Amino acid sequence: MIRKFLRKVFSRKAPASESIAKLSVIPCKRHGIRRNLIAPCALKITTQIQQAGFSAYIVGGAVRDLLLGLTPKDFDIATNATPEEVRSIFRRSRIIGRRFRLVHVMCGAETVEVSTFRGPSSNEDDDSTSIQLTDAHGRLLHDNVFGSQEEDAMRRDFTVNALFYDPAKEEILDYLNGYEDIKAKKLRIIGDPIQRYREDPVRLLRAVRLASKLDLQIAAETAKPIGDLAPLLQNVPPSRLFDEMLKLLLSGHALSCVVDLRARGLHHGLLPMLDVILEQPLGERFVTIALKNTDERIRENKPVSPGFLFAILLWHEVLSNWNSLQASGEKPLPALFTAIDQILSIQHKKLAIPRRFDAIIQEIWTMQPRFEARAGQKPFRLLTHPRFRAAYDFMLLRCESGELNMELGEWWKTFLSADHNQREKMLSSQPSEKKGKRRRRRKKASPNPALVAENSIKNDHG
Ligand code: ATP
Ligand code: MG
Repeated sequence: MIRKFLRKVFSRKAPASESIAKLSVIPCKRHGIRRNLIAPCALKITTQIQQAGFSAYIVGGAVRDLLLGLTPKDFDIATNATPEEVRSIFRRSRIIGRRFRLVHVMCGAETVEVSTFRGPSSNEDDDSTSIQLTDAHGRLLHDNVFGSQEEDAMRRDFTVNALFYDPAKEEILDYLNGYEDIKAKKLRIIGDPIQRYREDPVRLLRAVRLASKLDLQIAAETAKPIGDLAPLLQNVPPSRLFDEMLKLLLSGHALSCVVDLRARGLHHGLLPMLDVILEQPLGERFVTIALKNTDERIRENKPVSPGFLFAILLWHEVLSNWNSLQASGEKPLPALFTAIDQILSIQHKKLAIPRRFDAIIQEIWTMQPRFEARAGQKPFRLLTHPRFRAAYDFMLLRCESGELNMELGEWWKTFLSADHNQREKMLSSQPSEKKGKRRRRRKKASPNPALVAENSIKNDHG
């Protein structure tokens, strides 16, 4: 009766998904998230939006992470205010995005993202318009219709990502049983899995990444179609794939993500080279050791350069081209340069690795042969290279994986920890280089030993 009455009064069209969504309000005494766990800026902005007469909630990953006892990376806000209305509340704010308009509110040095509740854009209940909104594979091309809070929950990807936290009341609003899923450590896609993956195939990758990162189990119905739908990743713009790939590699769980991607057949679209690399024992060892190191660095809050990571993932591709070019008679160095050009140009197309990473990737690779020249002033010169640290770490990984003799890595470790005299001694005890080698065209000034001796080797790859 009351429902009927309310519907009449508001005469609002029921969302297509109404039968699935049922709001439950979870009080603080049950979920335990106090408002002091919310970053001050996000708290301030939510409060101001609410004071202006709108609703505003912390949404998505932050609520999920807090419930899992993790520290959120960032706090996103969702509101029923339009971008223009939000813009008018905050002097330091701007509307961004064309396809998906949201507001960036500046708060001190931070930027907080405020988005207006979105509605269902694929018009599940109206087949006649769905053609214009999706591509031939069902991928959503438009996603900018405003909607109710409930609809906003429905269009998110996983139930654990669809929780709203109201800092004023310290309540969680849950339309899709996300709270129980978090407690049961289940990652469940919202709605029909096949349709939702078709709308946005990046969700296939998000499922694997979030499950690994958050230690959640992918629910059976959510996991089932993943392998079959993997080819849909080919329709995703390469720049989006790159962004997702970077998130995955920098998640602190790169190794388990990559292993899981491969087990589910998702790496074809994303890291086509992994197929080849992981099938060779040396390549597999190299990638495994490198990703494990990366994960450790991230968990210890040490910087990781994306360029270094891509140099790792692509190295065995370069290596195999380098070897075949040499086998066909090219000299080692020109062959290396050709191999590098070949691999980078393929990857620009497939993965859209932005060109800003090229310099570091190329430097790490081209410095590799220089570690093998251990006579004269060469090792001293190598030490002064601004990318020495990254290239050195890379060389150690090659040794550890069995590609290079461990003796080389040990030699360099000793060389680095030695003082100048000891270094000179180490060099003089090396067999001299082959005679009759091409002379250097330009004579380079010998580096200042005092500078080199205590070389300022930075502990990062940047
Ligand atoms: P992370 O910890 O990696 O930031 P996240 O879940 O916060 O994880 P974001 O990319 O920051 O990921 O997205 C914020 C929120 O937006 C998600 O929690 C989810 O509700 C929604 N979302 C993100 N990507 C999608 C998608 N592809 N489809 C539907 N909803 C999405
Ligand atoms: Mg996030």
